[in-house]
Amino acid sequence: MRVVETITELRTLRNAWPTDNVAFVPTMGALHAGHASLIEMARQIGSKVIVSIFVNPLQFGPKEDFKRYPRPRENDLSLCQELGVDLVFYPKEDELYPNGMEILTVIEPPPSLTLQLCGASRPGHFTGVATVVLKLLNIVQPDFAVFGKKDAQQLAVIQRMVNDLNLPVTILPAPTVRESDGLAMSSRNKYLVSASDRQQARLLHRLLQNVRQLYQQGMETTQEAFALAQEQTLDESLYPDFQLEYLAAVHPETFQPVELLEPDTLILVAAKVGQTRLIDNLALNEAPSATSSGDLHHLLQSG
Ligand code: AMP
Repeated sequence: MRVVETITELRTLRNAWPTDNVAFVPTMGALHAGHASLIEMARQIGSKVIVSIFVNPLQFGPKEDFKRYPRPRENDLSLCQELGVDLVFYPKEDELYPNGMEILTVIEPPPSLTLQLCGASRPGHFTGVATVVLKLLNIVQPDFAVFGKKDAQQLAVIQRMVNDLNLPVTILPAPTVRESDGLAMSSRNKYLVSASDRQQARLLHRLLQNVRQLYQQGMETTQEAFALAQEQTLDESLYPDFQLEYLAAVHPETFQPVELLEPDTLILVAAKVGQTRLIDNLALNEAPSATSSGDLHHLLQSG
């Protein structure tokens, strides 16, 4: 496995490969079993796999956790090595933003996709995401790029950008990997240090599952299902540090809210547990999601 910090080195190595089957997994590091499953999907589809590790300042708000975001370089690199990654792109901030971020051409995704949900509480976030993803796609020039369904709004923004700008890459969505209790894996789960925080973090998935169960039992309107699911799941006296930011039902591509639940409706949730902001989602017709396999746990612990 090669690890490179510059665009020039990356391009030299990538262009020397006699293949049109390069799969790419962009990440911000602090890799966990969710990232590992994306890398495995890339491994299956591509004859060469490139992973980028870059905590992108452009997508963090001024009061967000950019500075304290975990950056366990050695663990991340050994996990990539064990997963058979061919090339890791690990740029410094200057490499991607040599002129800073004040005067920069950016990608503005359609407001209909970004003004609500995470975009409402994180202004500019999806501009930062779309811009860095376009830069990385231009640098790496992969045939496939794998993104997690865990970040559903991000995936919709990227898929839209790729279609609208005719980018020559196929986006592969990957299922959400969860802990055994249902909590979606996330680099930010590292912030959940107390047992109580960890308990409360499980509520996101429980709330989603509860909505799906009510739908399966015949409840048709979003409003009714949400009211009952919240009443059944979120007891404020038991969960004082759990602050729901949104619970929403949307069309999976347009991300517009729906009043009637349909099989392809996407249910999304965001909440703060103490200071930690977590998100999750679930399609009503989705098969029960993958949990991290023993193998992946083994790799992560040895990493
Ligand atoms: P991040 O490092 O958080 O920017 O995530 C990099 C990629 O991993 C994104 O495409 C995420 O959607 C994906 N990802 C993060 N968590 C999970 C998870 N639990 N399951 C599957 N994919 C994930």
